[in-house]
Amino acid sequence: QCVQVCPTAALTEMFHTDKVWEALNDPDKHVIVQTAPAIRVALGELFGMEAGTIVTGKMVSALKRMGFDGVFDTDFGADLTIMEEASELIYRLENNKTLPILTNCCPAWVKFIEHQFPELIHVPSTCKSPHIMFGTIAKTYYAEKNKLDPDNIVVVSIMPCIAKKAEAKRPELTKDEKNNVDIVVTTRELGAMIKEAGIKFDALPDSEFDSPLGETTGASVIFGTAGGVIEAAVRTAYEWMTGEELEDVEFEQLRGMDGLRKASVLIGDKELKIGIASGLGNARIILEEIREGISEYDAIEIMACPGGCIGGGGQPYHHGNREVIKKRKDAIYDEDRRKKIRKSHENPEIIKLYEEYLGKPFGEKAHKLLHTHFEERERI
Ligand code: SF4
Repeated sequence: QCVQVCPTAALTEMFHTDKVWEALNDPDKHVIVQTAPAIRVALGELFGMEAGTIVTGKMVSALKRMGFDGVFDTDFGADLTIMEEASELIYRLENNKTLPILTNCCPAWVKFIEHQFPELIHVPSTCKSPHIMFGTIAKTYYAEKNKLDPDNIVVVSIMPCIAKKAEAKRPELTKDEKNNVDIVVTTRELGAMIKEAGIKFDALPDSEFDSPLGETTGASVIFGTAGGVIEAAVRTAYEWMTGEELEDVEFEQLRGMDGLRKASVLIGDKELKIGIASGLGNARIILEEIREGISEYDAIEIMACPGGCIGGGGQPYHHGNREVIKKRKDAIYDEDRRKKIRKSHENPEIIKLYEEYLGKPFGEKAHKLLHTHFEERERI
């Protein structure tokens, strides 16, 4: 059930792989899996490959061989997040509502603000995180489309992150006390499962994600690295605010390895001031500025792990080696460049989802299904 990682046995890493095998062996369950953007540039390291080797196709093949009924991409949830988050940013800008807006894809940072800055919990975006959005759509739209009982669907998330295990159980993110995401396993756990199944990973052919809910864009891939969420939001907000096509989608000023970065982007005649923090020490600096009323930003992205999810606690150990993080980051941007569609609002399956089911982005149904709230918690 668990793997010991602490030499004194005071701490253990919980493995939940047995739960996944149990679900896969239950003939009454329809078990689907989603994989976060950062997994594809790190999983190969567990099989002797260079950091930054992109193994998306092999990973999908492995998951199909393991017996999942559907293999999907959390990037779809990331595109959906951008539809809602860009709408929320524009709504706040145009209606003089609370600014800056803070992205909230990272549950460790959400927990941090709830406990350490409870007076600021009205500031983050209310969007659910991408894998929870995906789980919500799987148990509603996907269930209806495939005539499945949502109670028989098991959603498994493969995440670069240990905090996502606790996030999936937050009461605010469940529906009628039922989970939208049932089991979360990390990149390391996935690697262990592939080995347990006797799959020769490096010999696998490439396969494609299943559809619908499988089409994704370059904007969603860059969620895997710090600064990527806000860049993806800017790509969409730019076109929605100006009505003009964004020809160069790469915002170099939002990229880099520093844990605290500031940049600005011109959207029409509006200069959008952006802050990016990775690591909670840097998040604290940004939050203290907001609390003191001296923040200059309109929008801020915060990620708890240095470098963002590519350096997440569930990824293959990098032992603080910045070169490994850099290679994973570069691979994320390469994957973005290889995508035919690079803006979330141009994802045809996302457009169809709104047309067939959700209605307008940031509308009533989207709000009910895709947004959440935060709690003031005891200061620790
Ligand atoms: Fe998880 Fe780290 Fe990514 Fe936050 S930055 S979602 S803690 S992996």
